[in-house]
Amino acid sequence: MLAQLAVGDVVNQQRQFFASGKTKDISFRLEQLKILKQALLENEPAINLALKADLKKPEFETFLTEIALCVKEIDDTLKHLKSWTKPIGIIPPLSQLISSAQICYEPLGVVLIIGAWNYPLQLVIGPLIGAIAAGNCAILKPSELAENTSRLVADIVEKNFDPSFVAAIEGGKETSQQLLEEKFDKIFFTGSTEVGKIVMSAAAKHLTPVTLELGGKSPCIVDANTHLEYTAKRITWGKFVNGGQTCVAPDYLLVDRRVKSDLLARIKTEITNFFGDNPAGSPDYTRIVNQRHFNRLSQLLESGEIIVGGESNLGDLYIAPTVIDRVTWEHPVMQEEIFGPILPVIEYDDLDRAIAWINAKPKPLALYFFSNDKQKQQQVLRSTSSGGVCINDTLMHCAFPALPFGGVGASGMGNYHGKAGFDTFSHQKSILKKSFLVDFNLRYAPYKDKIKVLKKILGSS
Ligand code: NAD
Repeated sequence: MLAQLAVGDVVNQQRQFFASGKTKDISFRLEQLKILKQALLENEPAINLALKADLKKPEFETFLTEIALCVKEIDDTLKHLKSWTKPIGIIPPLSQLISSAQICYEPLGVVLIIGAWNYPLQLVIGPLIGAIAAGNCAILKPSELAENTSRLVADIVEKNFDPSFVAAIEGGKETSQQLLEEKFDKIFFTGSTEVGKIVMSAAAKHLTPVTLELGGKSPCIVDANTHLEYTAKRITWGKFVNGGQTCVAPDYLLVDRRVKSDLLARIKTEITNFFGDNPAGSPDYTRIVNQRHFNRLSQLLESGEIIVGGESNLGDLYIAPTVIDRVTWEHPVMQEEIFGPILPVIEYDDLDRAIAWINAKPKPLALYFFSNDKQKQQQVLRSTSSGGVCINDTLMHCAFPALPFGGVGASGMGNYHGKAGFDTFSHQKSILKKSFLVDFNLRYAPYKDKIKVLKKILGSS
């Protein structure tokens, strides 16, 4: 049915539904979130099949990084929504006597959520949770590159929600641009920095606020004073889960020269432990999303000296988990976000130097630092800027609902997850209520001689 409706009609229907005030009712929001949770759980087999078809994603990873993450987020929201929506009372200052003040959360209206293909379910359903929780209507535009998941998302949405409340519109760049012509009350975009700029300029035409969840090159620094076994295991996991196609994957390794050969030997061992001697035959190893990205990644394999992996097979969209040593900042692999199973390695002698290298690049989405040294941990935290930081692990800070998730600078703006998702889709409305009991004349003209009293009251005389 939706396919026959013009994009503008869907937006108009949602505007009318929003105007009915139904979404302002907290029990309506809770009920819709429960429907979403149930739909995700019931569709687990179909979600698995879709992600297998799109990315050959292992069932375990689909459950952990797509289904469970969303279900946990819904559970957390169901638990806290009533307290999040409560107005916050503010004690008025002396100058505002007699009054009461509050900050109230109100929904924004009709929101647009555009997703990327790498976690194609989670990246539209995750923001939808915040949008529903905050009382909005929403249109989802899943990524066309994960076409099976996109179709399934549209199907789940159509079967479970009134399209005047939540709708999914499938399609590629053209559909996205058609949607961006419309006036929304918020646009939540996940994707590349380049397309983020296009989305932001389209939003500017309507003065629509945006949250941009973008990418970048997330560095992973390894100090000599670290637990090498766990460090190697956690980096191997964070880099090669989902075939390296994770926005917060450690993009490149900066390792203290003293532990480099030991660390790389351990990473090599962990790759074998995880995926066997031939990762192409492992049921636990994801494929590259399409030929265009396969070709892009194949060219990056020409940088430095491959010390692990390097094999590829276009027919199967397979690129082996690969580690490249002797990489320089000039190599192609260091010029763009890798977004694939290739880990370039650069050694350093001095942590200050490693920090300076990071700071010379655009602000990353994530930064990883492995070290037992608390002073060095503080040094890295103080002297770098990134969307988030995880010390002594990779990716795990993103699976923590109480920690807002988002970028800074070129890696994005705004954030979500848990309460942050609710805030992102809410307007914080300031309300001041005055009494008719008294009316002080001070502020009214004529001002003659009143400035002295004013200065006394404001404490500035
Ligand atoms: P992309 O920017 O190519 O596409 C994202 C979405 O935008 C898709 O739905 C696509 O249809 C749409 N789109 C593409 N071109 C467009 C255009 N010209 N105008 C309007 N819409 C357009 O990104 P991608 O390849 O799907 O995803 C990869 C990027 O996303 C990486 O940079 C990655 O780091 C980033 N990412 C970020 C996060 C995060 O949470 N910060 C999560 C996942 C991916």
